[in-house]
Amino acid sequence: MNWKETLKKSVVSAEGLKGVPGVDVHDVARVSGVYPMRINPYWLGLMKKAGAPLVRQAVPCADELADTPLLEDPLCEEKDSPVFGLTHRYPDRVIFLVSNECALYCRHCMRKRKVGKAGGRVTDATIEAGLAYIEKTPKVRDVILTGGDPLLLSDEKLDAILHRLSKISHVEMIRIHSRVPATLPMRITDKLCAVLATYEKLWINTHFNHPAELTPEAEIALKLLNGTGAPLGCQTVLLKGVNDSPAIMAELMRKLTKNRVRPYYLHHGDAVKGTGHFRTSIEAGLAIMDSLRGHLSGLAVPTYVIDLPGGGGKTPLLPESIISKDEKGLTVRGYDGKTYTYPVGVPRHQIKTP
Ligand SMILES: *Cc1c(COP(=O)(O)O)cnc(C)c1O
Ligand code: SF4
Repeated sequence: MNWKETLKKSVVSAEGLKGVPGVDVHDVARVSGVYPMRINPYWLGLMKKAGAPLVRQAVPCADELADTPLLEDPLCEEKDSPVFGLTHRYPDRVIFLVSNECALYCRHCMRKRKVGKAGGRVTDATIEAGLAYIEKTPKVRDVILTGGDPLLLSDEKLDAILHRLSKISHVEMIRIHSRVPATLPMRITDKLCAVLATYEKLWINTHFNHPAELTPEAEIALKLLNGTGAPLGCQTVLLKGVNDSPAIMAELMRKLTKNRVRPYYLHHGDAVKGTGHFRTSIEAGLAIMDSLRGHLSGLAVPTYVIDLPGGGGKTPLLPESIISKDEKGLTVRGYDGKTYTYPVGVPRHQIKTP
């Protein structure tokens, strides 16, 4: 089965989930009317094997309709949007939505207001408007193709967009953000990779949340993507009941780096309507970061970020390591939990006056 056929056989309504343990068919029917469900046969199989952490990411649950005080777009992507589907917030880079479809509709999606819904539809005209904006805006040096999932576009369409962007001299980096290596790894074909390999400005960021997502199929997909020469990263979302434990997170980061994928961000769950049940405390996130740093290769440790409401942007959070500071120096907690003194400044007698 090729990826398009696999995708067509996705479960999109409650009936398709009959017999999956722990699923409330009535809730699924109610919630999927508001936020669409799509569970492709690959993920369905994986879900049955790996259980709760994968079920939770894919099967609609009643909690999605229970957190009304949260906003649909707390990060104000729409406010910073000069043309439909493009957000220009930071000086040098834009987010550019080129697809409104995904291989799986993640229940934790921060763009839940749009993804898979009619109101978020991307068309040739919206893509053209985005490309035109980037062409006439010289300060844009980094373009992030996202969605939805850019890798759900046909090879030809993706090629055309990449070709157009690669011709813009002020665009020095093009990123593809895709969850397909985790949710539909058979989409990563030799033909797609031959297209990707022709673009030298390309970087690829994947989205894996749980070690069980790194199946043999996903590992083949990552190997093919590595062969394109695009540096591979991963943006993981901290999700209650999925990966909010130091042991699971460490295993995920080890598996990613084993496949030459560099963990980039660990996102704290945004306060997005319909996703509140996935949010952990900040302390839980910091404790996980504390458990990774020093114990794993530095290349396996992502940056933990919160995205500030109102369009303030991403800000990294680090576990506190400075205990105190005095004239002797800094008192610092090492990764081993012990206390060390770190000398700061230059002692007065060593300062030579000319
Ligand atoms: C996250 C984000 C980016 C990319 O930020 P990096 O820190 O460079 O990865 C760009 N624009 C917006 C609006 C974002 O939310
Ligand atoms: S793949 Fe990304 S854009 Fe699509 S539903 Fe999942 S989180 Fe949202």
